[in-house]
Amino acid sequence: MWTIGSTFGTLQKVDLKKKLVKLAKDKQCTAIGEWIQSILNHLYWCAVSTPDGNGEMIAEKWLSLNNHIVNIHTKHGRVFEKCAHGRLPAAQNRKKKWLKADSVPALKLNKVVSQKAFVRDVKKMSPSQQTYGVEVYHSIVNQFAPKMYAYSYTGMYCRLYACAKTMSMRNLSMSQIHSAVGGKNQQERGCCAV
Ligand SMILES: [Zn+2]
Repeated sequence: MWTIGSTFGTLQKVDLKKKLVKLAKDKQCTAIGEWIQSILNHLYWCAVSTPDGNGEMIAEKWLSLNNHIVNIHTKHGRVFEKCAHGRLPAAQNRKKKWLKADSVPALKLNKVVSQKAFVRDVKKMSPSQQTYGVEVYHSIVNQFAPKMYAYSYTGMYCRLYACAKTMSMRNLSMSQIHSAVGGKNQQERGCCAV
């Protein structure tokens, strides 16, 4: 089992991002560019919105992206039948444009999203948010005490103290962390890919 915040989970996410960025550079698929962040958020949402870790549910949520992105929000699968989001703004009021079903970008995106090995990994995603928080914490500590430098005990102590102080000043609770990356709000909204 891997979590979205684990090294493996992060690698998968980085790998997916690379593929999407590459795809968006394809002249026929530039429309995908504005969807990349939403797709990455959606991957995270699939895990955190499935607290029991049901692999089939996580995978169907993930694959529902292929429908959602072409403005189809129902009849996704056996266990995840329809999108969990509410009413969406009318097409003309949307920032991101829907892709056309069976268009080149939709088909190429489908290929990336539905890759068997990737979906197999997605199924194993853990809803654990703990690891994710730890990863965010380490990234903040790293800003105060970059790993490439060696510090004396006092130096390190002072840096970690400054870091802790900053974190408490920021009142960096898990809900805020999730909010910052779109997790909590997206979870409340029911679908990250909107
Ligand atoms: Zn939808």
